[in-house]
Amino acid sequence: RKSVVRITTGSQALDKLLGGGIETLCITEAFGEFRSGKTQLAHTLCVSTQLPIHMHGGNGKVAYIDTEGTFRPERIVPIAERFEMDANAVLDNIIYARAYTYEHQYNLLLGLAAKMAEEPFRLLIVDSVIALFRVDFSGRGELAERQQKLAQMLSRLTKIAEEFNVAVYITNQVIADPGGGMFITDPKKPAGGHVLAHAATIRLMLRKGKGEQRVCKIFDAPNLPEGEAVFQVTSGGIMD
Ligand code: ATP
Ligand code: MG
Repeated sequence: RKSVVRITTGSQALDKLLGGGIETLCITEAFGEFRSGKTQLAHTLCVSTQLPIHMHGGNGKVAYIDTEGTFRPERIVPIAERFEMDANAVLDNIIYARAYTYEHQYNLLLGLAAKMAEEPFRLLIVDSVIALFRVDFSGRGELAERQQKLAQMLSRLTKIAEEFNVAVYITNQVIADPGGGMFITDPKKPAGGHVLAHAATIRLMLRKGKGEQRVCKIFDAPNLPEGEAVFQVTSGGIMD
């Protein structure tokens, strides 16, 4: 049996909220408005995943699928320095791929799974998981097909998490929620509907606070108490 590994986010407050960090064997989703820190958390996890286990890392490599072209290798450098790691070695252990269509995104996953069978990976990032679906299925009548293809993609992600004991970190966009519903002060909700809600084990909602401050709220997670954590986004990555 594989045992779960928890990877530090760089913020003790956020780690505490998550019960120790981002978990392997499942999907963690972060959604929130632009600049809320979704991608900077991804950058930070690219580095922290490579820390040894006793430093709350995962002692493994990272696979990164980028659908928006926002991964910045030069942003990895100060994060690596902050964790006192060699930046070039850290970059060498990040397998990066840019996806241009949802089908391309799916095929990249298949290729990465083959790599994971050969080398020790501990994290797979998809930033953002849904952007290409929203472009490729933009017509009104295409929603059912989009959701079906999205479900396929997410089921593949779950399989990878379980088969290779990796943490899967996906980012999601927020969309207007005309109904308002539970978001009385901020009428937005995560995209992807029930399909995404069902696939993501841990759903995190990020929002901006003052200055560099960000707030993370547990939106849905079966084993975590409800709560919030405040952290900072800095050039050294996520921190308290
Ligand atoms: P989006 O929805 O646009 O993808 P996001 O949630 O991914 O947004 P990030 O890209 O993680 O947001 O940005 C979070 C914060 O990081 C922003 O406030 C931004 O100012 C800051 N930031 C961007 N680039 C740098 C950098 N090179 N060094 C430090 N902070 C940066
Ligand atoms: Mg981003």
